[in-house]
Amino acid sequence: MALKTGQEYIESLRQRNIKVFMFGERVENPVDHPIIRPSINAVAMTYELANQPEYEDLLTATSNLTGKRVNRFTHLHQSTEDLVKKVKMQRLLGQKTGVCFQRCVGMDAFNSIDSVTYEIDQKYGTEYHQRFRKFLAYIQENDLVVDGAMTDPKGDRSLPPSKQADPDLFLRIVEEREDGIVVRGAKVHQTGIVNSHEVLVMPTIAMREEDKDYAVSFAVPTDAKGLFFIYGRQSCDTRSLEEGDIDKGNAKFGGQEALTIFDNVFVPWERVFMCREYDFAGLLVERFAGYHRQSYGGCKVGVGDVLIGATAAVAQFNGVEKASHIKDKLVEMVHLNETLYSCGIACSAEGNRTASGTYLINLLLANVCKLNVTRFPYEIARLAQDIAGGLMVTLPSEKDFRHPELGKYVEKYLQGVAGIPTEDRLRLLRLIENMTLGRAAVGYLTESMHGAGSPQAMRVVIARQANMEKKKELAFELVGIEK
Ligand code: SF4
Ligand code: FE
Repeated sequence: MALKTGQEYIESLRQRNIKVFMFGERVENPVDHPIIRPSINAVAMTYELANQPEYEDLLTATSNLTGKRVNRFTHLHQSTEDLVKKVKMQRLLGQKTGVCFQRCVGMDAFNSIDSVTYEIDQKYGTEYHQRFRKFLAYIQENDLVVDGAMTDPKGDRSLPPSKQADPDLFLRIVEEREDGIVVRGAKVHQTGIVNSHEVLVMPTIAMREEDKDYAVSFAVPTDAKGLFFIYGRQSCDTRSLEEGDIDKGNAKFGGQEALTIFDNVFVPWERVFMCREYDFAGLLVERFAGYHRQSYGGCKVGVGDVLIGATAAVAQFNGVEKASHIKDKLVEMVHLNETLYSCGIACSAEGNRTASGTYLINLLLANVCKLNVTRFPYEIARLAQDIAGGLMVTLPSEKDFRHPELGKYVEKYLQGVAGIPTEDRLRLLRLIENMTLGRAAVGYLTESMHGAGSPQAMRVVIARQANMEKKKELAFELVGIEK
């Protein structure tokens, strides 16, 4: 089997025996849980669209491992064209869901681990690359969701892993056996983990020799013994437990993050892709972060398209669409959004082949892309709230709107331009609330700030990649300064 349908994906999640906790209780059936299900629906769209002929070119690719058609989310980029298509695919999915669709972290992990394992093997004569490709061929063949896991809790940020008061604050190898390793620790803010079949772990920072037990990369199924998840809260999450769909803003789709705990998890050797090669930890982090910073030049742009559309429609429903300052603000939103997209496309088009044959984005441009993402969605959201007006946060509930006596007052006093149903106006205002303050704001705003690294992490890479000496030389040459 190669490509699963959305429904097959959802059914496959039921086969796992995963351990999820929410509000202090074990969730027996995560697939049908009303708070979790919208996030599963979002991942399912990565399957749905892959099966639609019009999106086949973006959502699927020919595997360099097997020669078969696979979902692009499991593909190793073989050209700059692949890198560009990845960004276009992410924009499309952002447009279709309005949320984080979660499957990219695995794709970004595959591509970074592929090239780094090749380079580790070159230096140390290990066999990680071959192991990893075997694992990936299995993932492609079964069209699975794999969650890339990088971020450790990190405890005291001023201390390296081995100097922390609690040695588990970075995930580490606690035992080495003949048949594999045992790991302990946690990964935080783990996007889409409950909706994944497997988790692919990477170190979180560059390391020195004394931290070598922390330099580890491996994959295990999400129902591996000792692995469990504590579900992350999102603003307004319990609205998903209510009847009706207006107040949810985006009832069908959502994102997901969870605290992921590895409580002495065994990993067989064939699933270990880095084991104490601490000198490669930094390279792996840099490449994974680079790919995920590229990703945001696609997904956040697609979500931005939805927000801009909702804002323009609300302006129309309010009768202000022709006001020049509204037109200006909408243009500003588009300008910001397309600037992000330009960066996503540029770092892809300027990508390069690595030694393993897998293509890597241009790191400088990917970091510029993500640094813009730490700012522009906030400005787009600010403009959306400016145009939408205060009603988006003062609206009565759907229950009041549907109430036999109160409903007619809500209908009458909350209508905008005559002829436009009040309900349509309410739905769009709730969508804007959802995207700028509610559940989807986790993905559109806070994740834009901190996902794939906080702004300072981009500045560090930009400083490293900027080649300032070359720029000085250019100036010296023009004014005749000899060096
Ligand atoms: Fe994909 Fe964007 Fe979500 Fe990251 S934040 S997993 S790139 S949708
Ligand atoms: Fe992310």
